[in-house]
Amino acid sequence: MTPEQIECTFKRLRARQPEPTTELLYNSPFELLIAVILSAQATDVSVNQATAKLYPVANTPQAILDLGIARLKSYIKTIGLFNTKAENVINTCKVLLEHHGGDVPDSREALEALPGVGRKTANVILNTAFGHPTIAVDTHIFRVSNRTGIAPGKNVLEVEKRLLENVPEEYKRHAHHWLILLGRYTCVARKPKCDQCAINDICPSAFRTTDQNSVNNSDKKTNRKKSKVRAKAAGPTAGRLRQGTAKKNRKKKQSSRN
Ligand code: SF4
Repeated sequence: MTPEQIECTFKRLRARQPEPTTELLYNSPFELLIAVILSAQATDVSVNQATAKLYPVANTPQAILDLGIARLKSYIKTIGLFNTKAENVINTCKVLLEHHGGDVPDSREALEALPGVGRKTANVILNTAFGHPTIAVDTHIFRVSNRTGIAPGKNVLEVEKRLLENVPEEYKRHAHHWLILLGRYTCVARKPKCDQCAINDICPSAFRTTDQNSVNNSDKKTNRKKSKVRAKAAGPTAGRLRQGTAKKNRKKKQSSRN
């Protein structure tokens, strides 16, 4: 996409949703931090269901430590990987109390030092709790950035760097949420809903699901051709050897049955 098209993309996404935010429910940076730790490889809905019961009972580092790991697990057991996540939450609460007076730190370095907090989680906290113009790249944003060409890249870090370079300043603050919502509800993985998409006249991948399938099909054809070429190159001996091995295997099976 050209810079003008990227600008146009965010202008339209903003027009559709002027103040986008996370779908995780929270009332403080600490609640958001715990929710994001719990959300790894889990849906926001499942996390919200668990925290709706947990937070009225314990929503500070000290209260979670007082709760203890066994009771904490009983609140979050419906979330995938809850054993590891419970340990990370307990250890994070300890570090917050020991080094940050019980507050969530407003710095990448300090956030990434917390158990269970990686670059993506730190970016979400910095952006959503503290208003930094960071862009956390998850599976949805990775897909959308590549499909639209806003920030193509082979891995999440490459995409994140390109997004920071390519997204105009005035849109950076909310870019994470606009892209995540686009990927979650419209530019979905299997069958993107291009007919409902705000940028279907400028996106280079618009209405190309069939094209993508045909790309896959042509890949398959190419692979089949390649295997034929490899088989030819290996010569007739290779074929005879394979047949010979198959015969031996059949004989072995028969003798073991007898
Ligand atoms: S036009 Fe289609 S492929 Fe492009 S961003 Fe929209 S939904 Fe995704």
